[in-house]
Amino acid sequence: MTSVSYGLDVLAEAVIDLGAIAHNTELLLRAAGGAELMTVVKADGFGHGAVPVARTALAGGATWLGVATPGEALDLRAAGIDAPVLLWLYPPDHDFGPVLAAGVDVSVADVSVLKAVAADAVKTGRPASVHLKADTGMSRGGAVPSEWLRLLEAARGLEEDGAVRVTGLWSHLATAEDTTDAGLHEQIRRFADFRRAAQTAGVLAPLIHLANSAATLHLPQTRHDLVRTGIALYGIEPVPGRIFGLSPAMTVRARVVSVSGSLAQIPLGFADGIPWRVAGRASLQLHGVRVPIAGRITMDEVVVDIGDLPVQPGDVAVMLGPGTSGEPTAADWARWADTNPHEILTGIGPRVVRRYLSHSDLAAR
Ligand SMILES: *Cc1c(COP(=O)(O)O)cnc(C)c1O
Repeated sequence: MTSVSYGLDVLAEAVIDLGAIAHNTELLLRAAGGAELMTVVKADGFGHGAVPVARTALAGGATWLGVATPGEALDLRAAGIDAPVLLWLYPPDHDFGPVLAAGVDVSVADVSVLKAVAADAVKTGRPASVHLKADTGMSRGGAVPSEWLRLLEAARGLEEDGAVRVTGLWSHLATAEDTTDAGLHEQIRRFADFRRAAQTAGVLAPLIHLANSAATLHLPQTRHDLVRTGIALYGIEPVPGRIFGLSPAMTVRARVVSVSGSLAQIPLGFADGIPWRVAGRASLQLHGVRVPIAGRITMDEVVVDIGDLPVQPGDVAVMLGPGTSGEPTAADWARWADTNPHEILTGIGPRVVRRYLSHSDLAAR
């Protein structure tokens, strides 16, 4: 990574290695064992940029994109991406017209929302493609068993009317990384019950999906027809103690602004994603070695203790990267901040300039 030149006149940048995204896509497709691959690009592609990540993953064989919000779905369409997109989080009383007109699939977990989607679809003049969501135990916006039966019945009626098409039946696992968790096995068992109920009700969706990154990689029985991968696509190993060979795609670097004695000023603060609570624990990398953050973390900058390293203003400090050259990783920051790597990656702020390495840049290195 040090052979990549620094962007001109930039304080801090996040270099996104699209070659790593392509590698992770290939690895996940292989792990999916014949299931289709949905690339989850919510929260601006976990901070990496939804559109470049989506394009790279689709070119590598992913067939679906997953987003949380309607705005995220419409941003993909505005960029000219016409691959199937699933959306699962929207306000009460949402007007589904714009996303339906854009051909976006909608997750639905109760009858009243299904009816609203169907009514908006009729206005749009094309059937809505919906994925019915079951609550298998995560308790985050799925249908519980009694609602599930009513939902199936309503969906079948609306399918007959031509207002909706049930494309998917799905749920989300809360603890897929931990096979010792009894709740995980209970969720898998309940999902089978929900599927059986759908069969009995005559709702035959082509896509059954349950697995996130961790489940895709180590729980083959959860892969079904489609897997939804987020964190692994960005190169973070999702199962503690196991290495699948993923490549972290993001490197965050900043230029030393000034040096005073043994202290160097680095223009990365909590607004840029250095968690405030890592004070006293975290280090950056400068001149190939780790330098601890000294003193307080402010909104715009931190100070690091460089000892007697011959650091000059303009030298490049690395906050996080793949870890292959001794720099800290997103997993290290997660440990220091008592959180998960998802929060570290999505916390990299908007003024850290995103810069993309394409496959050809990598080949030229
Ligand atoms: C965020 C999200 C994912 C991706 O999960 P990872 O653990 O990052 O792979 C998959 N499905 C849904 C519904 C999500 O919200």
